[in-house]
Amino acid sequence: MRYISRDTQATIDLNALVENYQYVASIAPQSNTIAVVKADAYGHDANLVAHALSPHVELFAVGFIDEALALRQSGIKNNILILEGPFKVSDFTIAHEHNFLLMLHSDYQIDWLLSQQPQLTQNIWLKVDTGMNRLGFAIDDIDNIISKLDTTTQQNLVLCSHFSTSEQITSRKPVEQLARLKPLVEKYSCQFSMANSAGIFNFPASHGDYTRLGLALYGISPTDNNLLTEQLNPVMTLQAKIIAIHQVEIGETVGYGDTWSATRTSKIATVAIGYADGYPRNAKSGTPVFINGRVVPIVGRVSMDMITVDVTDLTVVTVGDSVELWGKHISIDSVAKSSDTINYELLTRVSKRVPKVAAS
Ligand SMILES: *Cc1c(COP(=O)(O)O)cnc(C)c1O
Repeated sequence: MRYISRDTQATIDLNALVENYQYVASIAPQSNTIAVVKADAYGHDANLVAHALSPHVELFAVGFIDEALALRQSGIKNNILILEGPFKVSDFTIAHEHNFLLMLHSDYQIDWLLSQQPQLTQNIWLKVDTGMNRLGFAIDDIDNIISKLDTTTQQNLVLCSHFSTSEQITSRKPVEQLARLKPLVEKYSCQFSMANSAGIFNFPASHGDYTRLGLALYGISPTDNNLLTEQLNPVMTLQAKIIAIHQVEIGETVGYGDTWSATRTSKIATVAIGYADGYPRNAKSGTPVFINGRVVPIVGRVSMDMITVDVTDLTVVTVGDSVELWGKHISIDSVAKSSDTINYELLTRVSKRVPKVAAS
């Protein structure tokens, strides 16, 4: 067992994870729901997450092959979709050996594909650019590209695209994007995959043959459309302990830069987590944390290893008390908002200094 002195950790609720997966899959019952575990499962520990999901899931998705190989090394047997496709021509051999499906998005990848033995190229997904303008082939180029593929590759083909605004339920853009992809899907009578988490909830017409479930798997609502997402449960709870408590008099300041000063005699708790752990340095005074059943504000600047919290209003508080930074009581969205960022970034930035521990 690894010895742990500092009790700062992210607990990972694997039951909530599996329930979230099953719930979201039930919203798109005709589709195969792919569990997206890129970026160390959005910071939740890809090994932990993939092992918990593997009996329930057919396909995982990651960004690039290195992430998929790490899952293989930890014993994951499911097929794995590589969302950014090959970065090197040798990736085709690796993909064939390990049952990875490659999503191709650019001409140079098609050139690599055509230089391969046919048996190495059969599980190919093609990414179509329907308006994100980040990755994917232009709609007008698809006929030409598909004509270069051998018959088996054509028969197994899956066409994909990605939404740029699916978190906004009133946006017309996802409807337009889908309308650009669908004629190709019909023309080639192939399978398709379009929806990310927000697409699953907000645009049922986009469910298709495969959905790509990321954020909502981890229990975080991908949209303001709260009716459907109420049932999600946050998987990660980020916690740290109080390591000191100070009394601060009126006019005294707390932390670097003297950005906060007391307007009353205050009790300030110092908590053992900082930006080196992935807690955002941008978090402003007033960002909520949860201690002993109450929500209280952080005050002053976030340091590398510590934050300071105004606990004056708590009747019971001592060194050693546990502090939740986000999770079941503090929504990660409230922290993201007061740090000028988004939930995805906060999750993926929890650093390796913080142990990820399965909740018991
Ligand atoms: C990350 C990713 C997803 C998952 O998106 P969420 O919004 O987290 O559900 C889906 N598709 C692609 C191509 C991605 O890169």
